Amino acid sequence: MFETVIGLEVHVQLNTKTKLFCSCATSFAEHQNSNTCPTCLALPGALPVVNKEAAIKAMRFGYAVNADVQHSSNFDRKSYFYPDSPMAYQITQLHNAIVQNGELFIDLEDGTQKRVGITQAHLEADAGKNMHEGDHSKVDLNRAGTPLLEIVSAPDMRSSDEAVAYLKKLHATVRYLDISDANMQEGSFRCDVNVSIRPKGQEEFGTRVEIKNINSFRFVAAAIAYEVQRQIEAYEDGVYDQEVVQETRLYNVAEGVTKSMRGKEEAADYRYFPDPDLRPLVVTEAMVEEAKQIPEMPDEKAARYIEELDIKKYDALVITSDKEMAYYFEEMLACGANPKMAVTWLTSELLGRLNKAGFTIENSPVDAKTLGTLVTKIADDTISGKGAKDVLDYMMEHDSRDVDAIIDELGLAQVSDDGAILAIIDEILAANQDKVAEYRSGKEKLFGFFVGQTMKVSKGSANPAKVNDLLKERLN
Ligand code: ADP
Ligand code: MG
Ligand code: ZN
Repeated sequence: MFETVIGLEVHVQLNTKTKLFCSCATSFAEHQNSNTCPTCLALPGALPVVNKEAAIKAMRFGYAVNADVQHSSNFDRKSYFYPDSPMAYQITQLHNAIVQNGELFIDLEDGTQKRVGITQAHLEADAGKNMHEGDHSKVDLNRAGTPLLEIVSAPDMRSSDEAVAYLKKLHATVRYLDISDANMQEGSFRCDVNVSIRPKGQEEFGTRVEIKNINSFRFVAAAIAYEVQRQIEAYEDGVYDQEVVQETRLYNVAEGVTKSMRGKEEAADYRYFPDPDLRPLVVTEAMVEEAKQIPEMPDEKAARYIEELDIKKYDALVITSDKEMAYYFEEMLACGANPKMAVTWLTSELLGRLNKAGFTIENSPVDAKTLGTLVTKIADDTISGKGAKDVLDYMMEHDSRDVDAIIDELGLAQVSDDGAILAIIDEILAANQDKVAEYRSGKEKLFGFFVGQTMKVSKGSANPAKVNDLLKERLN
């Protein structure tokens, strides 16, 4: 029996207005190499200046994960040549990173939480992009110098499920903190997965391989599954030492396999040394104060939903797993929606329809205020649950968000008026006197028949609870 050991390195692109060491915009640029200046082009004599906003965002992350946020940290040069990196080195933080010794609590399938250590999170500059076109390549340096926060976990995960749970929690964390867009497809949340195995009970770690740049949670799980199997087979075949070597591998999506890319460099290969152009990053009290402004985070939110709103733990975790969803939910409550009803209408009715139509909560055609209003209309008996589903279906297809107008237009207003319902009931009882007699002599099953008839005659508009009460009153 073997145990899997996983450690993750995640590069989060910080959503600052300008680059890490110059005042070039980080925003999308229409033309290649237009967001550049002497510093990020590495022209001789240009000097870097640290971006305060990037430092504060890194610090905010540190405080959110209970880390030691260093009031003085250092920048190092990591030397390597690559065409999209004109300095021929990357400015990073190796020895004294701004964020050290943090932790993240991940949510496991069985409802428990597990602590995963965050060894450090450091600031570094991104490279540009090489673009290969036929027989030649171009270099675009618009991205060169964009701030990254590299978040390094301890090797604390023991399965691909735990690795994915960690990534999801980390993703939610940086989104709640609003320090990154964290869009995996667009590369603002990139993850490298370190995987090793060891026989159960063995203290010492096995040899790890690093799988680079996987761009979806699903592929992370698939890459780990493949790699673990490969390592176990090598072990069982007696060729572990030859086939499992410390190296960088790539996950091939089409084939579902990992392939060796290059041997793993040792830190010494990069000739790390303190960057002589940059003095230590010393933070001020004002920066600390700003960084400590942290919104309510997913764990706190979930606890509050469970405690104060009496929401089931499972639902609380689903809703808080995504910032947009939690804010949507809270906006529904602000409209007066009952919390439990809001959960159902958000997580089953709305999400189901969004998935089917290819939308997400962020670009939902029905906004939170509208859905919240609709839910209040069920609670105050303006409309039945069934009628509300029709209204929601209608809104998914049409532009109108005027709930009352749609209820009118679709003729869904529920009749709760006793007189109107009694009139229908009396009509039905009169027309079915034989059944009334049977009911009164003990055939109670017939109650359902009377309810059905009343609903039918009212064309579904009668309030079912009222129908029940009034029928009982009349029959007994
Ligand atoms: P390096 O400096 O060579 O990049 P680190 O010690 O920084 O190595 O570790 C990089 C990542 O690899 C971390 O996320 C760490 O948790 C993970 N890691 C280290 N050893 C192992 C191992 N034996 N198995 C799986 N992951 C590991
Ligand atoms: Mg590393
Ligand atoms: Zn620049």
